[in-house]
Amino acid sequence: MTMINFFDIPLDTYKSWCASHKLPAFTLRQVHEWVTKKNTISFDKMTNISVKNQAKLSEILTINPFKTCQSLPASDGSATKYIFELANHVFIEAVAIQEKGYETLCISSQAGCPVDCKFCLTGVGGLKKNLSMPEIVAQLAVILSKGHSITHVVFMGMGEPLLNLKSVLPALDWLQSDWGFNLSKRHITVSTSGYLAGIKELIKNNIALNLAFSVGSANPKTRATIMPIEERNPIVEVAQTLAQYCNMHNRKLTLEYTLLKHVNDDLESAQQLANLAQYLKAKVNLINLNPHPKIPFQPVSNATLAAFKQALINQNIRTTVRYSKGQDVIAACGQLGESNLS
Ligand code: SAH
Ligand code: SF4
Repeated sequence: MTMINFFDIPLDTYKSWCASHKLPAFTLRQVHEWVTKKNTISFDKMTNISVKNQAKLSEILTINPFKTCQSLPASDGSATKYIFELANHVFIEAVAIQEKGYETLCISSQAGCPVDCKFCLTGVGGLKKNLSMPEIVAQLAVILSKGHSITHVVFMGMGEPLLNLKSVLPALDWLQSDWGFNLSKRHITVSTSGYLAGIKELIKNNIALNLAFSVGSANPKTRATIMPIEERNPIVEVAQTLAQYCNMHNRKLTLEYTLLKHVNDDLESAQQLANLAQYLKAKVNLINLNPHPKIPFQPVSNATLAAFKQALINQNIRTTVRYSKGQDVIAACGQLGESNLS
């Protein structure tokens, strides 16, 4: 018998689903409560369901769709990387990051990524698979079941979320609805490299999200050399479309800027980034490159990072610097996918 994924079953069909599987009418409601409220995903721990029905459920229903799950804690305790194996020996990764007073989960929307940004390890391996909605939601469910108290979710793991809206949008419903995991909408951020058709789809369907835009460089010519997506999705048009999006919703926009030595780290680049941030009323998050032998760039020095940051602040741009957590397990965003690249 083919297994059905729990997250695929519409809530309003729970009763009929139970009836057709000869289970008490409220069984799926109970499973739902365990998964979304009590961080439990194994049927044998769902103590208000009879042992007989637990066994029956485990024969027909999947909550955790992953073949294997490996966890790699960082030695400084700041992050844990989870490597999930999908059915066909394809891996995805998610990282739980301990912040001051809250815990953020960085999740994947695709196995690999087709966008091929030249500074990103995930891009090196290309696209393996678009994740299904349950494969996205289960990253959270499994990690919650390991004892994490996740309050924030960022789509900054593997993949370009706007290239997989078909799964990402229903996954967001599970994450943020009161009938789902009930995370605050304002604590969920979707990061994009600037895929125009995706942003336009968000506008068309009136979907309000906190967006992060990965700029790479605010100069179109430089951007094209490090982010091939620039060719068909010119940053000028992306900026106009993002401005239109932001005018529709009162949601946060962040510009993510990965600093690459001698590529996008000079003061003129900072000025161009400041102009973009002013135009979009966005804040800027600077990330120094996480270097890797397979990436042909180097990070900038602390002095360059500080000067770049100060140049933005001088233009009244709210600027933060993201310090990578858990370097020792290569857990930092943009470093995901190493386990794919043997
Ligand atoms: N595809 C989406 C989300 C995943 S990438 C996007 O590009 O926005 C998440 C973030 O990591 C992006 O802002 C990206 O620019 C950044 N990043 C990628 N490779 C990196 C690296 N090697 N070092 C530092 N940041 C990196
Ligand atoms: Fe894909 Fe984002 Fe990496 Fe670019 S930075 S290759 S869009 S995951």
